[in-house]
Amino acid sequence: MIKRRLLWQLYPTYLLITLAVLSAVGWYSLNSLRDFHYNRITVDLEVRARLIERLVAENLSAENISSLDTLSKEVGKSAVMRVTLIDPAGLVLGDSHEDPARMDNHAGRPEIKIALSGNVGKSTRYSHTINEKLIYLAVPVFKKGKVSGIVRTSLPITFIDDALRSIEIKIAWAGLVIALLAALISLVVSRRISRPLEGMKRAAEEFAHGDLTRKISATDSFEISGLADALNKMAHQLDWRIRSVTEERNEREAILFSMIEGVFAVDAAERFISMNQAAADLIGVDPKKSKRKHIQAVVRNNDLQKFVKKALNSSEVVETDFVMGGVRERHLQARGAVLKDASDNNIGAVIVLNDVTRLRQLENMRRDFVANVSHEIKTPITSIKGFVETLLAGAINNPEDASRFLEIIARQVDRLNAIIDDLLSLSRLEHDSGRFAITLEKNGLKGVLQSSIEACQDRATKHNATIELNCDASLQAKINPQLLEQAVINLVDNAIKYSGSEKRVRVSAEPQGNEIVILVRDWGFGIGKEHLPRLFERFYRVDKARSRDLGGTGLGLAIVKHIAQVHQGHVRAESVLGKGSVFSIHLPKI
Ligand code: ADP
Repeated sequence: MIKRRLLWQLYPTYLLITLAVLSAVGWYSLNSLRDFHYNRITVDLEVRARLIERLVAENLSAENISSLDTLSKEVGKSAVMRVTLIDPAGLVLGDSHEDPARMDNHAGRPEIKIALSGNVGKSTRYSHTINEKLIYLAVPVFKKGKVSGIVRTSLPITFIDDALRSIEIKIAWAGLVIALLAALISLVVSRRISRPLEGMKRAAEEFAHGDLTRKISATDSFEISGLADALNKMAHQLDWRIRSVTEERNEREAILFSMIEGVFAVDAAERFISMNQAAADLIGVDPKKSKRKHIQAVVRNNDLQKFVKKALNSSEVVETDFVMGGVRERHLQARGAVLKDASDNNIGAVIVLNDVTRLRQLENMRRDFVANVSHEIKTPITSIKGFVETLLAGAINNPEDASRFLEIIARQVDRLNAIIDDLLSLSRLEHDSGRFAITLEKNGLKGVLQSSIEACQDRATKHNATIELNCDASLQAKINPQLLEQAVINLVDNAIKYSGSEKRVRVSAEPQGNEIVILVRDWGFGIGKEHLPRLFERFYRVDKARSRDLGGTGLGLAIVKHIAQVHQGHVRAESVLGKGSVFSIHLPKI
């Protein structure tokens, strides 16, 4: 469709209407004016012809041609008109402007023809005789009831036509002026209509660019004001809707982003639509870079890719567990459901991820722990059972064997007892620390270390070992004395047990940076580097046989670690094989 400016739509219409009106009025008035003048002249000519008729009625014949011609000339001169006298045969008997002898027969002239039939004849035409347009009027002259001649009067009408032409020219000029006026009015009117429309167009463009706060000002036109109001209302509504949609989206995103669970959505073509930070962290992708990208291009985990496919094609909630590789291996639990639009079409799927790594680790630890405990208990029980059966089988009758076997049984029972004691300590520690039931108080360390050493004194004497203490009496820490004593006992006990030929143990405590460190040093067997990271695990032993022989349970260091944690501290072991070890408990400074 051709688009035209409003001005060019209004101007031709205005111009056409005004010109049509002007032409109609002009044409009608000119015609009326012409008719009026022609009629007046005709009436005038008839009156004059009747007067002349009276003068010539009796002697209108060829014999009087010279007197008739003179009369014609005199009357024509005084009345300022052309007078022609004609006999019934059409012969000109007299003419005010011409010599009748030189004039041709007039019987054929239209007005004469009518007059010859007894009526008043009238004709308007160009006269070659006087080179002007004339109105002719012919009156028949009756003599004894017959047409005896014709008096024809005529007057030039060129002056009327000239006057009318000058009016026509004036009307044409008026037309031109009106055309210009119409152009001007069209311009003004179109401007008045188009200016608010232009403003509205600009405002609508700004609405389209998102600036919905703008208001279109009202105009004096009822319709355009109505349009402006409607546009303002529409913008207000849109603004309100966009605001509420944005608010809703922000709320949703805030919820999504604050969730610990990873949530992401894919479309039907398996491309990421959205993803919260937790999901991005769990599957190791950048949420911004992965937007609109296919899952296969972003996540290189076969299990997750398969799961997303399954979720997209299933009508129910689907679930799976998978391992996400990477620097840190993670065990993830995924739940997926189909996403539907308003018309119930599948448009994608939403997946919720849970990091169950810790849970799995705990499960594994529990499983290992149960296996370890069973194994630890099984060994002394098997031994006890074996010796009891041997005794029952008859060894009981041999007092020497019987007492040896019973001693072994007693040792195994002690071992069982020790394991159970340690397990109970651990479980109590876990139980109490979980419930924050362990109280920590500011206390001097020296006394605690001293009582630990005293508790180990018997064993030290048995192993010919000496224990040194090096601690400032003023050194204090926030501790639970009983627990810390137990931890130090465990460390000193180990140092004595694994001290080899150099039977010396040194216990010391000192501030280091923002910590207070309790150190238990020995110059014994030492521990291989490879064992150090796992040393504090439950039931971990470097040398199983030696530990068992020495009555170890494999739980001593695990208990120490736990006690340190209860004190918001940690433990460390440094050792060189064959040279000795240093175990340290690090407590926060007060
Ligand atoms: P255990 O009851 O067997 O001593 P622990 O948890 O106390 O169990 O110790 C774990 C293992 O660490 C021990 O079996 C032992 O091999 C090693 N170990 C602990 N303390 C020392 C030490 N001071 N010197 C050498 N090895 C040690």
